[in-house]
Parts: sequence; C-alpha cells; structure tokens
Amino acid sequence: MIKHEKNFPYWWDIKDSLAAPENTALPSEVDLAVVGGGFAGMSAALTAAEAGLSVILFDEGQPGRAASTRNGGICSGHLRIPHSVLAKEFGLENADSVYGEAAIAREDLASFITQHDIQCDYRQAGHFTGALSPADFDSMKREISALQAIPGIDVSLVEAHELTSEIQTDRFYGGTLRRDMAGYHPGKFFSALLKIVLKAGVQIEANTEVQEIASLGGGVKCLITARGAVRAQKVIVATNAYTGRKPSFGHFLRRRLVPVQSCIMVTERLGTARVKSLMPGLRLYGNTAKLSCYFRPTPDGTRILLGARSFDRLIPSDKSIHYLRRMLAAMFPSLSDVAVDYCWLGNVAFNRTYLPTIFDKDDITYVGGYGGSGTVWARWLGKKAAQTALGQTNAPSIFSQLYDGKPPPQIPFYDGEPWFLPFVNARYAVQDKLNSLKFGSRKTRN
Ligand SMILES: Cc1cc2nc3c(=O)[nH]c(=O)nc-3n(C[C@H](O)[C@H](O)[C@H](O)COP(=O)(O)OP(=O)(O)OC[C@H]3O[C@@H](n4cnc5c(N)ncnc54)[C@H](O)[C@@H]3O)c2cc1C
Repeated sequence: MIKHEKNFPYWWDIKDSLAAPENTALPSEVDLAVVGGGFAGMSAALTAAEAGLSVILFDEGQPGRAASTRNGGICSGHLRIPHSVLAKEFGLENADSVYGEAAIAREDLASFITQHDIQCDYRQAGHFTGALSPADFDSMKREISALQAIPGIDVSLVEAHELTSEIQTDRFYGGTLRRDMAGYHPGKFFSALLKIVLKAGVQIEANTEVQEIASLGGGVKCLITARGAVRAQKVIVATNAYTGRKPSFGHFLRRRLVPVQSCIMVTERLGTARVKSLMPGLRLYGNTAKLSCYFRPTPDGTRILLGARSFDRLIPSDKSIHYLRRMLAAMFPSLSDVAVDYCWLGNVAFNRTYLPTIFDKDDITYVGGYGGSGTVWARWLGKKAAQTALGQTNAPSIFSQLYDGKPPPQIPFYDGEPWFLPFVNARYAVQDKLNSLKFGSRKTRN
C-alpha cells in the first residue's frame, strides 16, 4: 500500500467553512428549485435570487463536495473540440462564437471574484500545453491564427528552443501558452460562493436527495424528497457527473452524460524554489496525450498537484497512485521519489457532442457535460440557465443554439453505467504508448 497522508481533497484542508447551514422546514412552493449544489446549481440559484425569485437548492450531500471542490482549480474554460473542427461542422461564425463565449465566461468569473472580493488565490497565471510529438505541435500551429483573431483570447506558440523558460522537461516539442487562463483555490472560492448565495436569500437544503420531479401541468413541477415535496414554477437540474442511477430521478440525463473518474494527487511540500525551478512561470499545465494529465503548483507554490485518469471509482488504489507518480516522474525525473500527501477521486462528465450543454426538456432546464473544464463552464451555464428561467433570452448561450436547443444524443446501450470506459481508456493508452515509443523525449531524439 502506498503511503499518502490524506484521502480527501487538498482543497478541503482550509480554515474557511465549506458546510451549509442546518436545514430548515421545506416551503410548500417556490419560484425556482435547483437540483445540485455545485458551481452550476449555486450560480443558477444566485442569479435567480438576485432577480427577486424565491429559490430553493437541494443537494443530496453537502453542496460543493462533489466535482466543484475536487478539481484541479484550473480556470481554463477549455473546449474539447478544436476551433477548426467546429468551423467545419457549424461554420466559422459559430466556431468563433463558441471560443468567444469561453473568453466571456472566463472574464465573468474573474469579475465575479473581484466584485465580491473573494480571497481564493485567483491568479491569471497562464496555461501551457506541451506538444508530445512534432505532429501535435504542427496541429497547434494550424489552430493558433483562428484563435488569435477572437477577442479575449491571448495565445502564443512556444517553440522548442523557448521551452526552458516555461517548463524544465524534455518531453515536449513545443507548446501553446494561453495567457488569458487562470488558476485558483476551488475550496476557498466555493466557501465564499456559499456565503454569497445564502446572503442573497437562497434556501439551501443539504443531504436532501431529489427522488423524483413530477409534472403538475402548465410547466409547474413537484420535487419529491424524503423530507417532503415542494412545488416549483421552474426547475434547473445541475447534477452533471453525479446524476447517478437513482430509480426515479435523472433517467433522461444519465443516458446522455458519461461520468468519467479522474484522480488527483498533491505531493509533499517541495518548497517554492524547487517548484519554481521546474515550472518557472508557476502556470497551469497540460499535454496533448489522449489520456492527458494536468498539473500545477499549489497556490502557495510549495507543492505540485497532478491529475489524470483513475483506475478506481471511490477511493484511489495503489494502481492509480502509481500511475500518477509515473506521469509526474516522466515529466520531471528528479521527482520520482517524492511522497504523496493528498490523493482523491472525482467525476467529470462528457456527452456525445464533447461540448458543454444547456437545454430544456419537459419544462426542466438541464446543464452539464463540461468535459472536465467546469470551473468556468458550470458557473457560466448555471447563470445562463437561470437567465433562461427568468425569461432573459436576449443573450442566450451559443450552446443552446448549436444543436437548435436539442439535448445531446442518447448513447446507445447505455443507462448511466459506463461499461465501455475501460475499452476506450485501453485504446487511448495504446495510442499514447506508441506515440511515446516513437517520439520519447526531445533530447534523446535530437
Ligand atoms: C478530479 C477532477 C478534476 C477537475 N479539474 C478541473 C480543472 O482543473 N478545471 C476545470 O475547469 N474543471 C475541472 N474539473 C471539472 C469541474 O470540477 C466540474 O465540471 C464542475 O465542478 C461541475 O460542477 P457542477 O455544479 O456541474 O457539478 P458538481 O459540483 O458535481 O455538483 C453536482 C451536485 O449534484 C448533487 N446531486 C446529484 N444528484 C442529486 C439529487 N438527485 N438530488 C440532489 N442533489 C443531487 C451532487 O451531490 C453534487 O453536489 C475537475 C473535476 C474533477 C472531478
């Protein structure tokens, strides 16, 4: 058994409280009910409460304890589909709108943090993606000019000879630097968000699973919980990768969203000098592998956090921890012996479009499918969902238009149990292995 000190997120080890207040009696009726208390649900609830609606938010556990405080704290608003592919499928204007909305959503998060003076170590540190092969670097070169033309996007290429100022590894053949992207401490952010949402008058009911949403006609719904039922004029479902396989809740969503487990480790304290010697810009980092990993210094600059695929569902096994350590050592061989202090798992959600999604079905608004990049997207689409519920449709999200507002397609032979993931991961792992055998490190190849 590999020793690691803490089996819970590094981000939970803070002085600020992440706990919701004690539950109170359920009201009989509200204007808006939100299911799910992560970034999306909280942002939807806040937007509606600030507009004067009575709002209740249900979470089956403690709000924020699912993906929203288990992530890497990278605020990228990353999109899984390249601009060129979107342009081919939807036209240049729509591709620009998708990438443009990511820039607006990122800026919106930054302004929210400033407006509320949230002390969450937010820093526009820039995001570096390393190309693991010359072919990957060539695709970066092809993408970049279209992105540079979009307002709010600040992207540049990093040639092989410039790499040492970005990162001390010989794994990459070049890379891209996105100066418009940021990092923060998700625990501190969520703790502040919780206080802001409560102050706006949202009634938060923790440990209260919504078991069913029944229709009462005319768009009015009845949310059924073990503690009683609540009538709601509008409902937003923001359960994303934690929708689960409950008997009477979430059927429609879970056939369209695939939860994928991700595992994160945080090293022992290495000291700022050592971390800075490896990552001089103290940025956020990723690579072009099919099973990619993401890594960054912790906000205090003393440790390194690295996340990648998981081999487990609930608790990290030795296999997952070995895998993460191998990833770190492949990047930075000098770290092959470092101890792991924290290690935990969480779920991210994908849908068949590989794009964030927002849609209405039977008078319920659904958001989700951020593909592992929800620190920006979940908060943004939660806000957009509330604006839709409020009838403020003058600035709809591009994601409610790309597919004419239709839900993402159902996944064949699937009902929330992703039996096919081991096969997909195995295929990607083989592709990555072949790539690394072919290209290995830049130094040994040159
Ligand atoms: C390990 C990991 C690393 C990540 N790293 C990054 C990153 O660096 N950058 C980035 O942008 N994104 C990252 N993400 C993704 C990001 O964290 C998520 O996309 C985002 O937090 C999703 O927010 P959400 O509000 O949609 O969902 P969640 O925060 O998952 O909240 C959903 C909530 O719904 C509740 N729920 C489910 N069913 C019910 C029910 N029936 N009744 C009541 N409540 C219910 C759950 O209890 C849960 O609290 C990462 C995610 C993970 C897991």
